[in-house]
Amino acid sequence: MKEVKKPRKPLLYYYCIVVLLLLVFNFLTMPYLARRRIIQVDYGTFMSMTENREIGVVEIQDNQILFTNKDNTIVYKTGLMYDPDLTKRLYEAGAIFSGEIIEKTSPFMSLLLYWILPIIIFVGIGQIMSKKLMDKAGGGSNAMSFGMGKSNAKVYVNSSEGIKFSDVAGEDEAKENLTEIVDYLHNPNKYKEIGASMPKGILLVGPPGTGKTMLAKAVAGEANVPFFSMSGSEFVEMFVGMGASKVRDLFRQAKEKAPCIVFIDEIDAIGKKRDGQIGGNDEREQTLNQLLTEMDGFEGNTGVIILAATNRPESLDPALTRPGRFDRRVPVELPDLKGREEILRVHAKKIKVADNVDFTKIARMASGASGAELANIINEAALRAVRNKRSYTTQEDLEESIEVVIAGYQKKNAILTDKEKCVVAYHEIGHALVAAKQSNSAPVQKITIVPRTSGALGYTMQVEEGNHYLMTQEEIENKIATYTGGRAAEEVVFGAVTTGASNDIEQATKLARAMITQYGMSDEFDMVAMETVNNQYLGGDTSLACSAETQAKIDRKVVELVKKQHEKAKTILMENRKKLDELSQYLYERETITGDEFMKILNQ
Ligand code: ADP
Repeated sequence: MKEVKKPRKPLLYYYCIVVLLLLVFNFLTMPYLARRRIIQVDYGTFMSMTENREIGVVEIQDNQILFTNKDNTIVYKTGLMYDPDLTKRLYEAGAIFSGEIIEKTSPFMSLLLYWILPIIIFVGIGQIMSKKLMDKAGGGSNAMSFGMGKSNAKVYVNSSEGIKFSDVAGEDEAKENLTEIVDYLHNPNKYKEIGASMPKGILLVGPPGTGKTMLAKAVAGEANVPFFSMSGSEFVEMFVGMGASKVRDLFRQAKEKAPCIVFIDEIDAIGKKRDGQIGGNDEREQTLNQLLTEMDGFEGNTGVIILAATNRPESLDPALTRPGRFDRRVPVELPDLKGREEILRVHAKKIKVADNVDFTKIARMASGASGAELANIINEAALRAVRNKRSYTTQEDLEESIEVVIAGYQKKNAILTDKEKCVVAYHEIGHALVAAKQSNSAPVQKITIVPRTSGALGYTMQVEEGNHYLMTQEEIENKIATYTGGRAAEEVVFGAVTTGASNDIEQATKLARAMITQYGMSDEFDMVAMETVNNQYLGGDTSLACSAETQAKIDRKVVELVKKQHEKAKTILMENRKKLDELSQYLYERETITGDEFMKILNQ
């Protein structure tokens, strides 16, 4: 059995240490501090001082004599001797007989000195040390840790970050969904009166970098309430029980601060399905159980709203997503063309941009990019402007930075032989020509044969004109043909093939396979799903769900499909051999050509 450890040593532990230290301090140090210094002298000195009338106060004790000088500033001590006349001589010498040479300090002073002063000292030291520890625990300037940092939950008091819905571009549906929460936090009575209760938990699901964290902060910002933020993985600790105690602590703080927003990022780290395997992850399951209990434990109208983000909603435990817990799901999808443009504009406000920048074009070029990637593109463009010693960012910077984000930086010192450069030029023109000749393919934006750090020796950038939500079978086939166009050009022109097409092959195969196994686009299998998508937001891995024989048939079908498109691409290129040569020669000389230049030569 594993020991359940407490997260921190209990407070009693610290009190014991303080009391112990106080006792040591009292017994060892204080007597020395409080007493006056006593000088040991021999009996002869005492006698001569008496004779010389130098004694101030004297005290004869059982085993020693204490006496002071005339000014009472020094205390002496000497042993006892048989001396019957001593009292008389001392009296004659004018000494004062006293029982209290060593002054007894007043009760008040002793309380002050022996107890209060040390306590003040220790508390002072404790304060300094705990402040240091808290600083170390990462309480930033606008973030505060409570409860000795037990849950590490940061609370952004009154959302000093000030993120508002207007900072989150696009994502209109998600914002609309969350506006209700803001309204509730502003005016809970409106809801209470009618008897409606807010969902306790809202799950934000979507691919990474689409602004889930931002949206959660924006809800807190709009509602002007505290924002507690914690990542799922922060709950899971080495010792069983610690995560659960953190959850308890987080909810305790949240209830104290209600109305407020609690945000749990990457909730799948604790909320994964409990699979009941022997030797499962005890700590994670305990933490999840505690979370479930806490969510049941508070009423819907306490004003604590829990937002959680994940990009793997399918892996969450059903207990977590049942009504009464995270019962509302808000999809935060990759932005569409309009959304991308808005995100670009929002981030472009933070940098200096030339007036003539065409954001629509940039948004079109960056198809499929997430909000985080678009923010990165803007930043890359600004960095490029600085590198080129300009004080503002231009269209060219932005276009180049898209390529940097997609394909990596230009490789300055990659030297291709003439022959290689020629092959790459034909390869790229092959893609572009096949794309352009198939009426349904998107227009070519740019073709380049400048090698990139990602390993690409060149590429053809295609741009979708508008938003595409559906693709016809023909469009997918044309896309496959375009992928095979590069290799086809090499075959048509050089009669030999190179390794340059590996990425094209991968893409073409993926599409062809999806057509058959997911989209039901083959006669033989009709509308039967052969593959299931495992995690739609993280790359969309698939797993086959069919027999080995069917699998073999699928493989044959895929080969057939790709082959047919490959042949089609070859035919297109052979029919346009003259244009292929002309364009490739042009690209070979220029290294980078635009879509317009390409179309001009093609239509001449
Ligand atoms: P997620 O939590 O979905 O992974 P974040 O909210 O952390 O993504 O977003 C990361 C960054 O991407 C943000 O800091 C912001 O700069 C940018 N970003 C993402 N989506 C948007 C958006 N819709 N509008 C503006 N910026 C965005």
